[in-house]
Amino acid sequence: MKQSAMKAKAASSSTKTSTTSKASRAHPYVYNFGRQTDGNASMRELLGGKGANLAEMAAIGLPVPPGFTISTEVCTYFYAHDRSYPRALAGDVKTAIGLVEAQMKKTFGGKDNPLLVSVRSGARDSMPGMMDTILNLGLNDVTVEGLANISGNPRFAWDCYRRFIQMYGDVVMGVQAADEESHDPFHELLDALKKSLGKSQDSDLNAADLQALVAQYKELIRKRTGKAFPQDVYEQLWGAIGAVFGSWKNERAILYRQQYGIPAEWGTAVNVQAMVFGNAGDDSATGVAFTRDPANGEKSFYGEYLVNAQGEDVVAGVRTPKPIAAMEKELPESFAALEKVRTKLEKHFKDMQDFEFTIEKGRLFMLQTRNGKRTGLAAIRIAVEMVKEKLMDQRTALLKIPAESVDSLLVPIFDSKSQKEAQMIGKGLPAGPGAATGRIAFTAAAAEIESRKGNKVVLCRTETSPDDLKGMLYSQGILTTRGGVSSHAALVARQLGKVCVCGAGEVTINYEKRTLSAGGVVLQEGDYISINGTTGAIYKGLIESADSEVKRVLEGAMKPEKSYTYELFQTVMEWSDKYRRLRIRTNADTPAMAETAVAYGAEGIGLCRTEHMFFEGDRIDYMRQMILAVDQVQRQEALKKLLPFQRKDFVGLFKAMAGRPVTIRLLDPPLHEFLPQDDAVRRQLADKLGLPLEFVIERIKALHEENPMLGCRGCRLGILYPEITEMQVRAVFEAAASVMTAKNPVAVNPEIMIPLVGFKQELADQLAIVHRVAKEVMNKHGIEIDYIVGTMVEVPRAAITAEEIAVQAQFFSFGTNDLTQTTLGLSRDDMGLFYDEYQRKEIYNKNPFASLDQTGVGKLMQFAVENGRRSRPDLKLGICGEHAGDPDSIEFCHRLGLHYVSCSPPRVPIARLAAAQAALREKK
Ligand code: PEP
Ligand code: MG
Repeated sequence: MKQSAMKAKAASSSTKTSTTSKASRAHPYVYNFGRQTDGNASMRELLGGKGANLAEMAAIGLPVPPGFTISTEVCTYFYAHDRSYPRALAGDVKTAIGLVEAQMKKTFGGKDNPLLVSVRSGARDSMPGMMDTILNLGLNDVTVEGLANISGNPRFAWDCYRRFIQMYGDVVMGVQAADEESHDPFHELLDALKKSLGKSQDSDLNAADLQALVAQYKELIRKRTGKAFPQDVYEQLWGAIGAVFGSWKNERAILYRQQYGIPAEWGTAVNVQAMVFGNAGDDSATGVAFTRDPANGEKSFYGEYLVNAQGEDVVAGVRTPKPIAAMEKELPESFAALEKVRTKLEKHFKDMQDFEFTIEKGRLFMLQTRNGKRTGLAAIRIAVEMVKEKLMDQRTALLKIPAESVDSLLVPIFDSKSQKEAQMIGKGLPAGPGAATGRIAFTAAAAEIESRKGNKVVLCRTETSPDDLKGMLYSQGILTTRGGVSSHAALVARQLGKVCVCGAGEVTINYEKRTLSAGGVVLQEGDYISINGTTGAIYKGLIESADSEVKRVLEGAMKPEKSYTYELFQTVMEWSDKYRRLRIRTNADTPAMAETAVAYGAEGIGLCRTEHMFFEGDRIDYMRQMILAVDQVQRQEALKKLLPFQRKDFVGLFKAMAGRPVTIRLLDPPLHEFLPQDDAVRRQLADKLGLPLEFVIERIKALHEENPMLGCRGCRLGILYPEITEMQVRAVFEAAASVMTAKNPVAVNPEIMIPLVGFKQELADQLAIVHRVAKEVMNKHGIEIDYIVGTMVEVPRAAITAEEIAVQAQFFSFGTNDLTQTTLGLSRDDMGLFYDEYQRKEIYNKNPFASLDQTGVGKLMQFAVENGRRSRPDLKLGICGEHAGDPDSIEFCHRLGLHYVSCSPPRVPIARLAAAQAALREKK
């Protein structure tokens, strides 16, 4: 397709347009809201979340300033056509502005009564603070006078103008702080002016001061960019629209999308809306509120506001706002109006809402509403309580809880004794619950470096900006000295499930000296600090953490009726179990792990990695002896010593699982993983085994492999050394026989699993040993043990030849760690070098080792399921790779028709919920 030659300025604007517009136009480019409303809440894909909900609010009669949304399809067009727009867009925008002018009875660029607009992003899923916003657009040297006259408030007009130049200069013209440690150049000018006038607050500046500041801002822009600040209001508008579309691909937006698996193709919409002014005097205000508490889910009105301010002041954390409750006294009528809106929003949207409002001279306006981001605890509490309040049913409630959020009920909290003993040095606002201890990092970069060293980090900033996102991801917790509970730091932390304390005014951070001072204590970067995001308390040093209430109840250390959190957890788990089809198993190698998993709801063991049993105490030495053996006789001698240990472990597992299925995988890893690399340990080993050191060194050398992951591991070990398989199988069946025939007998349900099979002959080789030994043990004890034998499907060849492999295998368990590794030709252990770049370029939507590559690896799985069932219709199917704990992958497994997923014990509750959600989504 030929690119447009029209890159010159369109009449009265600087928009680039293309000649190819109408041909592909399936929908309008522009949707109005206000007196005429074209969209509604269901149109998120086209209008973005913000645009769709503005339309919905306008339609249900809430006071929304008029405006229009430019659709996400224009964003797609923008990127597909060298950042140009469809030709018709300029005209459509002009018409839409005309509609807003008519409703507001103001003129865009008019000198007497100018219309000002905001220009804001809005993707399908909200990405708070990640993209750009411009307020007060439409002001210039002429219209500012008009605004001053008509409002009778020159100070207000000049304040709006300086804010506009500041935002526009930053976002559109790129006048920003040079680096993380420098200050914003506009703020610097503002601070210098206040200082020279001896004034401390922004609000102390009068109209003349602000006018002088505007001149300084314009000069700054001219100096930095070589361009004058644009006076043409349409040029301003197109500059802002371009910047907002452009911000879809800024670094922090990309990072955010990575984190939440938002596809790059979605694009953002742009919302242009008439400005209303929270900074028009003391009867005006702006704020952000949640219909329920987003931190703990309590049904209380939660939020904050600032009198005589604009929205950005609240979110940016520049001034610390007042809690919403204070409004009842300060602006009682507005508060009453707000309460009504709160109820109406919840009834209509049937979910907790996070909304922005402005009060202009006592009149309430709604600027945005969306389903509020919330902590895991809040998500669960709100869902359960909304079912009780009959706002939603159980199915809807389950779908509203992000499955991962269950995790936050299980994470540790501070050990109460250690917390009491610790020195509290200050307090801030509790903004993201939980307990975090770590080394102080003052910049995002420092947080990353510290975390890469393997240390825990608490990111400490005066305030955070969206650019700090990366540092926040690397941190256990975030501490800020300014800003309220809806500041950027707090919002993002909650969403990331990070512990956060914000607005800690008594804490002083000195970036130059790299110190943090509070309560008479001075801490350096790298020192330990602890923060409690549930109470807001800040402590010097390291504090031990303790188990969550849910964990304590599950382990019998707390009475269930004492914990409301546990009650919520249990309710969600019970509902989940009612709706899910997938069974949930766990990957566990010890009785203790198995018990924890059962307490979390595991219905079996899907993977016992037997090699993990060989590391403890003396066992490792016998294992090493077995590996170093030069012949079968020596090897059998060592195996004889290992047998009792294995048998004892299996007895423990069978008892812990009390008749539930236990999948035991035969030895899998490359043997050299067990051998010492260190000279001193090699010497000790040689002494202990009575072998010459040279011999040990030679044997280790001989076992070296260039690609051990693709070398002598998996079933290849058992094929090479059948005596290993024999010992392991004997241990399993003797253990089974012993618990079945004990005084208090326990039922057993063993499933023997052969790893890394790619050829049916490999499976046949190992099966023969399993069945022979099983028979010997059963005959010896005169009992029958029900067992099945199956294989892991973890190399592509196994999936491709599933039909013939399933002739012998009674079950398949997808080992998606290796299957991903071998399908992608991508080492499980060596992604570090290029992974960041792959993420940055959005080649991977998600880490393929964390979330299943459904279009690649998933296809192989599907093929294996269909073909495996062809030769064995009752083939049992499961997954035991790490993906089995990932909600998206669990949904995929549900759709494939697997029988179970097997994940690590702490992820069992998440998997229960995710499995229910998969079943419910399928029914929808
Ligand atoms: C797998 O490969 O997915 C698997 C579960 O086995 P391991 O991680 O032990 O190789
Ligand atoms: Mg494997």
